[in-house]
Amino acid sequence: MGAPDFDCPDAMKQVAARAIHDGRNQYSPVPGMPELRRAVADHAARFRNMVVDPEAMVVITSGATEGVLCALLALVDPGDEVIVFEPFYDAYPAQIAFAGGVMRPVALHPPDEAHPQWWFDPAELAAAFGPRTRLVLLNTPHNPTGKVFTAAELEAIGALCLRHDVVAVCDEVYEHITYPGSGHVSIGSLPGMADRTITVSSGGKTFNATGWKVGWAIAPRPLRELLLHTHQYITATVPGPLQLAISAGLALPDSYFEELALGYVRRRQRLRDALATVALRAPATQGTYFLLVDVHASGFASDREFCRLFHEQIGIATIPCSAFFTPDRPGGRRWVRLAFCKPDRTLDAAADRLLRLGRLHG
Ligand code: PMP
Repeated sequence: MGAPDFDCPDAMKQVAARAIHDGRNQYSPVPGMPELRRAVADHAARFRNMVVDPEAMVVITSGATEGVLCALLALVDPGDEVIVFEPFYDAYPAQIAFAGGVMRPVALHPPDEAHPQWWFDPAELAAAFGPRTRLVLLNTPHNPTGKVFTAAELEAIGALCLRHDVVAVCDEVYEHITYPGSGHVSIGSLPGMADRTITVSSGGKTFNATGWKVGWAIAPRPLRELLLHTHQYITATVPGPLQLAISAGLALPDSYFEELALGYVRRRQRLRDALATVALRAPATQGTYFLLVDVHASGFASDREFCRLFHEQIGIATIPCSAFFTPDRPGGRRWVRLAFCKPDRTLDAAADRLLRLGRLHG
């Protein structure tokens, strides 16, 4: 898994340790600890311009994974359609299937001369909406492409949701990992969308605490009620000491979040430079800690061939992007995902090994 190779802030560990020592070790309330619900609401007001009532609009979940699953199980009836952009995070097809839903993929097209980042055709998106459409399941910043949906794109998606009376579920786990010129916008903050958006996020990537699995869903009151009932019978509660620690993290000063993003600007550059030295093409990204290498442009037949070679010859693990596409979609075989959530020494070692590969195949 592409988990950060950095530790979470000490102040957060201390909060968790203290709560454990103080005996706060029993079940926490089903909607989540009041301290964390308040912190989630304050964070949404500070960074996303959203007005969130912590009592009535937040559910704390076991990571964003449970937040998305709760939304799907709560809202999708068997046969209902869920629109997703393809490539998609690999958990979504399984989660949609758990709910008995039917996935309707809409293509994200790779960057080209006319499009600086992955893009969708509004006509293709509009054509995917139909009488059985229940949800649009979005992810921005986007895994695996590194795309950050622009406000204009989100407005277009929102307009279709309004026209077809459809709910948007937006997975924003990389919300604080964006690059200069590409601020993250929550679709739930757009006019008319607060009433029909479930915003899902978690502390995993923002605080380098993926193992804690503390996430949240923000939803308008009626939808939040549905989420709560679903959450009650999936995990019911999330570890209390870790919730308190994440609430301390969400209250960290702006400088914490700025430095997180700046660290990734540097690491992204380091990896792109290393790839360029051996003529591997990775289009610029707008967010996340992933880069996609275009294996066709780099002279490989398929993503799997590239991954095997990387693993066997230089010991670098990469992810074949066919995992993020519908089976047999040719576009899926064109890309390989690299994660750069690693310290400089690891990125430097990767750069050295890439040079070795270049010599082997040069
Ligand atoms: N959504 C996306 C798009 C992800 O990339 C990940 C982590 N790989 C998750 C959700 C999982 O988040 P969490 O650990 O908070 O459940």
